[in-house]
Amino acid sequence: MKTSKKQSIAIIGGGASGIFASLRCAEVAKAKKIDVDIRVFEASTKFLKKVRISGGGRCNVTHNIFEVNAFCLNYPRGQKELLSPFQKFQATDTVKWFEERGVDLKHEDDGRMFPVTDNSETIIDCFMQEASKHEIKLLNKMNVKSLKKLGDGKISLFINDDESFIADSVLIATGSMPGGYHLAKNLGHSITEIAPSLFTFKIEDEILEGLSGTSFSQAALTLKIDGAKPFEQKGPLLITHWGLSGPALLKLSAWAAREMMHTNYKAIITINWLGIERQDDAEKLLKTIKNNNTKTSVGKAYPSELTKRFWLQLLIKCGISKEKNWSEISKKEFRLIVKNLFNCELNVLGKSRFKEEFVECGGINLKEINFKTMESKVCSRLYFSGEVMDIDGITGGFNFQSAWTSGWIAGNNMAHL
Ligand SMILES: Cc1cc2nc3c(=O)[nH]c(=O)nc-3n(C[C@H](O)[C@H](O)[C@H](O)COP(=O)(O)OP(=O)(O)OC[C@H]3O[C@@H](n4cnc5c(N)ncnc54)[C@H](O)[C@@H]3O)c2cc1C
Repeated sequence: MKTSKKQSIAIIGGGASGIFASLRCAEVAKAKKIDVDIRVFEASTKFLKKVRISGGGRCNVTHNIFEVNAFCLNYPRGQKELLSPFQKFQATDTVKWFEERGVDLKHEDDGRMFPVTDNSETIIDCFMQEASKHEIKLLNKMNVKSLKKLGDGKISLFINDDESFIADSVLIATGSMPGGYHLAKNLGHSITEIAPSLFTFKIEDEILEGLSGTSFSQAALTLKIDGAKPFEQKGPLLITHWGLSGPALLKLSAWAAREMMHTNYKAIITINWLGIERQDDAEKLLKTIKNNNTKTSVGKAYPSELTKRFWLQLLIKCGISKEKNWSEISKKEFRLIVKNLFNCELNVLGKSRFKEEFVECGGINLKEINFKTMESKVCSRLYFSGEVMDIDGITGGFNFQSAWTSGWIAGNNMAHL
């Protein structure tokens, strides 16, 4: 049955989540024969800006983990809340959604998924064609400045300095822009503490000197921050010209995002470079090298998993000459080598942006959102999706997946019969 009156759907934010929500809303309305006027209000001149620059211009659309519980483990904030949304729309659905619209995705060895074209424009073109097919009104330079709940349940949008629009349903999909939080506060929502997530660590230490580009495939990291429990991660680690980066370190930054902000990014990181399980095993490994190379200099005989350049820096940090024979290494020196291989302590001095992907942690308090519909529990007909919520993932396509999923669910529910 067709409703007699056209419904006005306002989506605030023409980014990943807002655009995806608008497409789903149009599809559902069409299937249910609901007459809708969908408008996406975008403050800037361009839609999908972050999609364009994402993943180094390739757009890491999602991650190839197709089991929902395992997928959720990649969200420092939102892990529990995303469980039910992902039951409805998860990474497999993203792959299918794009495939059905002629965009094939591929995955890389680390699980990240990209369009086969390796070009984010493919994703943008797909969205733009879909939006045009569904006659969605994409309105740029429309900065929504405030919202007001009206007596009849509708919501009024105040745009730029002199425009307004009355909507039956409103989606706030403003990402991490402060203006979006202001809109939600307008209608009674609370915002959790905002902090940058996904950053690299600034470290100045002789062990890293001249080693930019050196990587470790299975490093085990422990981050000690004043007043917080230690954070741990294991995985690939990369030395940069400025300190440390790589997947394990970025994960650490995401899990410790708020605590790191509280100490102004000062902390101690302990590194087990080879990810050796127990100190005994590290000792055994080095003892074997020592015993088999008594007449060789320490600079020449070292664990095969390490590069020579790294080993020489490790010796410099220990204050041991590379010319010394293994047989001349004292017990104290041996213990120092074990410590710096297994338990190397470095001071974190600050943070830097990871260019490929970054997000903010914090946003709309998740307790105030109904995750079955993405509707506000505080204000009816108001919905949220994407990064504006207190949800963020680690690097690897998890942030876009939560943007698609929450947008899809909001889109499912915004047009009512
Ligand atoms: C450099 C970079 C690379 C990234 N790469 C990846 C990646 O490869 N994979 C991944 O999963 N994630 C990636 N991310 C994270 C990902 O881009 C975000 O998590 C995602 O874009 C969030 O989608 P969103 O729609 O919630 O917000 P956004 O995409 O930020 O969109 C919000 C939109 O709302 C608009 N807006 C804000 N306030 C208003 C207002 N008051 N009125 C009207 N419009 C408004 C903004 O202009 C913006 O266009 C990357 C992020 C960055 C910065």
